[in-house]
Amino acid sequence: MKILVTNAGSSSLKITCFAAEGLQEVAKGMVERIGQASPALRFSQNGGQVASRPVEAADAGQALRALVACLGEAGLNGADQEEGIVAVGHRVVHGGEEMTRPVLVTPEIKELIARYAALAPLHNPPSLAGIEAAQELFPDAAQVAAFDTAFHASMPERAFIYALPWELYEQDKIRRYGFHGISHGFVFHEAARHLGAEPSGLKAVTCHLGNGCSMAAVNGGAARDTSMGFTPLEGLIMGTRCGDLDPAAVLYLQEQKGLGPAEALELMNHRSGLLALAGIGSGDLRDIEQAAGEGAPRAQLALDAFAYRIKKYIGAYAAALGGLDAVVFTAGIGENSPTVRRLACAGLEFLGLEIDEKLNQEGGEGVREISAPSSRVRLLVIPTNEELAIARQVLRVVRRED
Ligand code: ADP
Repeated sequence: MKILVTNAGSSSLKITCFAAEGLQEVAKGMVERIGQASPALRFSQNGGQVASRPVEAADAGQALRALVACLGEAGLNGADQEEGIVAVGHRVVHGGEEMTRPVLVTPEIKELIARYAALAPLHNPPSLAGIEAAQELFPDAAQVAAFDTAFHASMPERAFIYALPWELYEQDKIRRYGFHGISHGFVFHEAARHLGAEPSGLKAVTCHLGNGCSMAAVNGGAARDTSMGFTPLEGLIMGTRCGDLDPAAVLYLQEQKGLGPAEALELMNHRSGLLALAGIGSGDLRDIEQAAGEGAPRAQLALDAFAYRIKKYIGAYAAALGGLDAVVFTAGIGENSPTVRRLACAGLEFLGLEIDEKLNQEGGEGVREISAPSSRVRLLVIPTNEELAIARQVLRVVRRED
């Protein structure tokens, strides 16, 4: 029996196929540039490349069909229960206030995903297209939706409310939702496992630092606050997003610079962040670290500002949690940049955070601890695995444990 996980992005679709027993990954694939000039497919089985070719993919549904054909060619899509795919888990970015856990897909759930497309226009529609294609391809399989927002549903009202006129919350649902929830939940539980701690007694700050970046304050497995808000634009500085900003600056852009709403949004989402600060034509942290190393002052400023904001949120979340047992770094930057981790933790000894610079510099696989033995707060680097997290959620839903 196998479980298939789909992850539809704004222009890509990834699949991962797991053996249901033990959740070993058996194959993965991806279609990039969906809906663009020359979509490309990659597929690998047990880590070895099997296919890499151009493909017709006008939408996420067509991309999924092409990837499922690869599964068939690899003999991983048998018709019977024993060999075939018994459940499909779909990552869905926005589930609004209603979705607090993964659920079986019903017509009502599809309607909800379509409704929240207004708040996640680049992500919910391809997820829905993927779900509909999967329902056709695997009519007998359980279809499960796992929401990025669900992990944050436990935030208290005081953390998610914006101080705007009440009807904007009540009627328009303008509030903090938070994203990357599947990753924050996954690394929190991995941290508890590594520390040999009961998740229910653990207070942690999780830092998901990839192209998109967010942090969460987690107490006992429940999110108490998170840095992304109504959309993924709020919070940390990101590759090309500005993060926290005085909203009046946006109105200034519109009134004084003549930018329309779409242009302002494009500026803040795609032309800001590390890309804008460093001024080297790249928002990729590797390029920025290299430029800073060669003495480019704005690249150094980009690094400093990026890390400073992470540090501010660590302090804020330690206060929100009323204590702190662990800080977890994950995703492309969190897992691979000792510089960002060092800068973000520097000067937080008064909170009980002491990084061991030698451990911080050492690479390695799996969960790694980078705190000094005398550090009261444990510092961990934990590779995220959203696909495995979704596969676990699918199993819990199918076994009715959730
Ligand atoms: P996404 O959010 O698209 O999944 P990732 O989690 O892959 O992104 O993170 C991408 C970011 O990770 C980029 O800024 C990239 O520069 C950074 N990154 C990846 N490897 C390294 C590395 N070895 N050192 C520093 N930064 C890295």
